Formats: sequence, C-alpha cells, structure tokens
Amino acid sequence: MSNNYQIETKCIQSGWQPKQGEPRVVPIYQSTTFKYDTSEQMGRLFDLEDSGYFYTRLQNPTNDVVAAKICDLEGGCAAMLTSSGQAASFYAIMNICEAGDHIVCASALYGGTYNLYAHTIKKMGVEATFVDPDASEEEIGAAFKENTKALFGETISNPALVVLDLEKFARAAHAHGVPFIVDNTFATPINCRPFEWGADIVTHSTTKYMDGHAMSVGGCIVDSGNFDWEAHHDKFKCLTEPDETYHGIVYTQKFGKSAYIVKATSQLMRDLGSIQSPQNAFLLNVGLETLHLRVPRHCENAFKVAQYLKGHEKVAWVNYPELEGDKYHELAKKYLPNGSCGVLTFGIKGGRDASVTLMDNLKLAAIVTHVADARTSVLHPASHTHRQMNEQELIEAGVQPDLIRFSVGIENADDIIADLKQALEMV
Ligand SMILES: *Cc1c(COP(=O)(O)O)cnc(C)c1O
Repeated sequence: MSNNYQIETKCIQSGWQPKQGEPRVVPIYQSTTFKYDTSEQMGRLFDLEDSGYFYTRLQNPTNDVVAAKICDLEGGCAAMLTSSGQAASFYAIMNICEAGDHIVCASALYGGTYNLYAHTIKKMGVEATFVDPDASEEEIGAAFKENTKALFGETISNPALVVLDLEKFARAAHAHGVPFIVDNTFATPINCRPFEWGADIVTHSTTKYMDGHAMSVGGCIVDSGNFDWEAHHDKFKCLTEPDETYHGIVYTQKFGKSAYIVKATSQLMRDLGSIQSPQNAFLLNVGLETLHLRVPRHCENAFKVAQYLKGHEKVAWVNYPELEGDKYHELAKKYLPNGSCGVLTFGIKGGRDASVTLMDNLKLAAIVTHVADARTSVLHPASHTHRQMNEQELIEAGVQPDLIRFSVGIENADDIIADLKQALEMV
C-alpha cells in the first residue's frame, strides 16, 4: 500500500487490493490446502524457492491480507498473524532464542506474558531477567549477559498502566546488539508506532482493541526490518547460517528484511502450528476498519471517567496516564500525544471489600476477564486473575488489593459515569 496514505485510510484500505472483477471485501479462504498443476511446482514451495500457498498452517491468503494491513499500520516491512497474543509473545522470543539463551524484560507486564517468560520458557532453557521500567539506562544495561538475545516491554502495560520510555529501552537494546521487542496491544498503532521510537519488532494481542468487539482471540508479530542480524552474526546464527530443514537456506541472505518473519512462519508455525483461523482474521479485519474511530473515543471516554473518579470523595486513587499529575503523564505526552488507551485503574477508600461492593453494584459495566472492547467492563484482579495471592504477594506483584481495572467502552460517557455514580453511592 502507498505509504503516503494517512493511518485512517490504511485502516480501511491496506491489505486487500482486489483486481478486476474480484470481491471488494477480502474473502475468507476457508481452505486448509491449495492446488497445484505439477509436482515440481509444489516441491519448489516446500523448498521456499517459490512463494505461494500450500497449507493453511503455514500461510493463508485471508490471514496474509490482514497481517499486511497491521504491518502497514505499524510501518513495518513484514508481519504474521498468530492464534493469540500469547502465541505472538512466545514466537517473538523463541524465533531468536534457544536453550541456554537469556532475555531482559520490563517488569510491568501482562500477567500471561509474565508467566510465559518467567516460568514456561524457563523450562525450555530460556531465562528472563526483569528490570524496573523506570530504571536508568545503566541499570537496564546491567541486566544484559553474554547470552542475552532480546529486550522486551509493553508500550502501556496491562494492568499497571506504566508508559514505557521507548527510546531509553531501544538504546539499551542496541547498545547490547539485540532487538527491542514491544507489545503494542494497549496503545495500538493509532496512538503509538514503536518503530518510530527505535523498536525493532512489535507484537499484538489483536484480541483487544484491534478486534474491538470481544469476538475473536488472535495475535500478530510485525518486523520493522531495521535490525541488522548479520552485524550481530554471533548471536543470531539461527538467521544468518544455513537452515538444514530447508536444504541450507540462509534466511538473511534469501529474504533480506523479511528474514525474521519468514523464519517464524516457516519454522515455528510449521512446527508449533499456532495459526489464526481465517474466520477470525476476517472478523479482525472488520475490527481494524474502525480502529481509528474507536480508539480516540475509548480515550476520550476514559479521560472523562478518570476525571470523574479523581474528583470523587470515596475514590482513594486513580491511575490514568493522561491525568495531570499521573506518574507517567510526561512520558504519555511524549509517546502518546493523541491519547493512551481506554483502560484505567482505581481504588476505593475502604479497600478490598469496598471495591467488591462497588463492582457488584455496577449495572452497565460488566464483570468480565476481557479488556479493551466496545463494552465497558470491570475486573478486580485480587478477586479474579490474581485470586491465589495473599495481600503481601499482591503488593509485590504491583496489584494493590483494592485495584479495580476499568476498561472504558465506547458507550456514551455520561451513562458510564452515571453507572459508577450509583454504584459508588452503595459503597
Ligand atoms: C491480552 C494480552 C496479551 C495476551 O493476548 P491473548 O490474545 O489473550 O493471548 C498479551 N499482551 C497484552 C498487553 C494483553 O493485554
């Protein structure tokens, strides 16, 4: 797609460009397999000598169109869809790590990502060191080791709402010859494009704002094409030396700037198989067509709700990066000048019990595990996602016992506030 188009146009037009007489809307290629005329042609696909479709576990046209749209929105050069955000986080790391390797991560992370990096990949021999996102560049640098292969963080962390200093993290990664990988789920490319601040690879849980309607679980990995794997050949031999499972192909030589995504598709997707279903990719594409309309409204509504809560006598505290005085307000002004996201967190005076009372009295806002869709939703991590932890463990995990995660939808803000008002009266 022409890079001259504005992001709103890309949301609608990127990805699918039908030719004469083809469907205007991307079709759902609901087919596991694709037909060829000669055995030779099919063989060349298996050798990665020709590009083309042969089996949906590796590639599917619907998925590729939607990946291309997200790639364009992020300003990347290659992208792939995955079955979930978790699969994207897993592949993004395991594409360049193997047993004996190490990664550095900002500690303010989505709980699922924390479990994956702290525990599950550890069992596969890849260790993670977690650094305070507010640490100095020197302190972050001190976490790197000889075998470190990547630095990872979230643009806006879920649920702590820490805004990452992307330039600081990019400098730390590049000073140590590794790519900086950013989970951009909460900001979306509408509010922040991490490649513009030095990130090399971006991941998404497309389940959230991109899908936007709580309909389909999915993920995406986008490569900027900017990281020079060959300049750091000793660390990334997996990309710069022959892959014997493809008759000795060298990804960086054969695929240039797309090397990382081609490898993730042709090795990890081939062997681990976490593909997104073409049906879900189709629904995701419908969501993407209104991303540029929904995200600003989520932010506008969340700001109004945050201001209302901030001024309420029963509310102990509110976290929202756009609020004047928020710990991350300055970073938000720099990296998220048009708004951050629709999620905010707050606590009620009276602690945990008061928080539960408030939630049980909400009528419009529904208690669900999900965040970042059109409907306002609410969750009390201490009672739900972090239920097994005692008070001390909750505080160590950065989840205050009274913390309510409030995902502001795109209903009328006055109705959302009225719902909170009546529930607060019951506390
Ligand atoms: C939800 C989420 C994930 C995981 O995505 P799934 O699609 O649920 O697997 C990863 N990162 C962030 C920031 C998330 O909010």
